[in-house]
Amino acid sequence: MTENTDNGEAATYQVVIIGTGFGGQAAAINLKKRGYSDFIMLERRAFAGGTWLQNRYPGAAVDVQSPLYSLSAMPYKWSQMFVTQPELAQYTQQVFNTFNLTPHVRLEHEVVNSQWDEARQQWRINIIGSDPIYAKYIINATGPLSMPVIPDFAGKDSFKGVSFHTNNWPDDLDLNDKRVAIIGSGASAAQVLPAIVDTVKSLAVFQRSPHWIIPRPDFAFPTWMQKLLGVKWFYNVLRSAIYWGLETRVIGFKYSLTILNLFAGGPAKRQLNKQVSDPVLRKALTPDFTIGCKRIILSNTYYPAICREKVSLFDKNNGIKSITENGIISANGTELDLDIIIYSTGYDATDGLISYPVIGKNNTTLASVWTDFPRAYLGTSVPNFPNYFIVTGPNTGIGHTSAIFVIEAQMHYIMQAIETVETEQKQTIEPSVQAESTYTDMVHHEMERTVWQTGGCNSWYKSESGKVIAMFPGFSFVFKRMCQRFKRQDHIIK
Ligand SMILES: Cc1cc2nc3c(=O)[nH]c(=O)nc-3n(C[C@H](O)[C@H](O)[C@H](O)COP(=O)(O)OP(=O)(O)OC[C@H]3O[C@@H](n4cnc5c(N)ncnc54)[C@H](O)[C@@H]3O)c2cc1C
Repeated sequence: MTENTDNGEAATYQVVIIGTGFGGQAAAINLKKRGYSDFIMLERRAFAGGTWLQNRYPGAAVDVQSPLYSLSAMPYKWSQMFVTQPELAQYTQQVFNTFNLTPHVRLEHEVVNSQWDEARQQWRINIIGSDPIYAKYIINATGPLSMPVIPDFAGKDSFKGVSFHTNNWPDDLDLNDKRVAIIGSGASAAQVLPAIVDTVKSLAVFQRSPHWIIPRPDFAFPTWMQKLLGVKWFYNVLRSAIYWGLETRVIGFKYSLTILNLFAGGPAKRQLNKQVSDPVLRKALTPDFTIGCKRIILSNTYYPAICREKVSLFDKNNGIKSITENGIISANGTELDLDIIIYSTGYDATDGLISYPVIGKNNTTLASVWTDFPRAYLGTSVPNFPNYFIVTGPNTGIGHTSAIFVIEAQMHYIMQAIETVETEQKQTIEPSVQAESTYTDMVHHEMERTVWQTGGCNSWYKSESGKVIAMFPGFSFVFKRMCQRFKRQDHIIK
């Protein structure tokens, strides 16, 4: 593969977007809307689209109402309130078609590092198996949850059966009558388990810690409603209603444990009591932290599935001792013969926030700046890393609403930053050290009162430092407002 121009010079673009998920798509749409066409989208996979093309496990579905979990520029006639992966994949495809993004995409272009070239005042982007590319701006959209992690269980590689992470579900997998173990009990496991329980012969669930699960208020949209979803004003009204309904959850997450327990804890406990009659199992499924501290799972079918006779639960007192060629040996010596091991063990979402090394001015690596914990101005830009923007960067996660809302909020900031440089005919923009520090101090000060910090759990929201670095500690409209109000004085523009 080559990106060289005809005269042998390295290809240079005004903007390179890394990643083709909703983050990359939102960036591309916003660039086009503002008249920028000199950009490409690099994607390491053989297909474009990100999360919902990659995660094809049975039961995969969104847990935010679909009319809100969609790009504002692209209304859609969703079939139900919480749609499943195939429909999200179709939607993604339609986004690429509607906005003619495909010509900008370079598939199988995995970025291995990006380095600021002071002489050229550009980023040099190194790609596996291809020539380097130069760019004035990088918009990194490599995804908060795109690097699956499998812990190093003793003997893991000796297993002779089939094993994989939920993120890499084999297309031709036959589960029929198979002895299966699923390791993990988070959001993906809670979707997989009910979806496969009927088919498999037996299912062992290894749960390090149980999660709070609330009912999923899902329903199919009747035809008349689907038609209305195609009408922009109706779509927007519905989005707003869902948005403001969800936004009230921040009151519980941040300001009132009473409200949190009333509106989330109550329904979760009632569902657990109703659906799990065995007191021993119920105890094993009851979390020991405040609801909301870890991502709340939405499911009506997880508990009924785990109560099935063919399902056995191995909790933290009887976890994995080792994996053998035939299966798993648990801590108390139970030997499980297995055909399939499914790792639902999550993602490197905190300390390894960007999937490749980034080297800024004076050879400073982003990893070294983030030694204590990842940090960025508006979760998006970092001093000494000029013209570099991180979509879904540190503290941009949101537990109560759509990640796409936050992605689109970041676009306001990124586009204004680029436009400022271009209109003023400058070369670079970066936040000042002072501005980034003030912002980060504010974020961690506000975090102190949230359930993510105080709720008594260890979650992927926290980095090794113990700081919550995945979440924004407040209302998402506050974050959006900050992104909309571009502060020139917070930046060094040269
Ligand atoms: C199973 C699952 C369920 C989820 N459910 C929800 C939900 O219900 N609600 C919600 O709000 N959010 C949910 N999320 C979070 C989800 O990550 C965001 O909603 C959103 O899809 C993020 O989009 P993105 O573009 O930032 O990342 P992604 O969709 O992950 O896209 C990143 C892209 O970058 C590519 N990439 C990564 N590294 C490189 C590299 N070095 N070089 C080139 N390309 C690279 C990846 O291959 C990928 O295609 C879920 C995530 C997962 C994994």
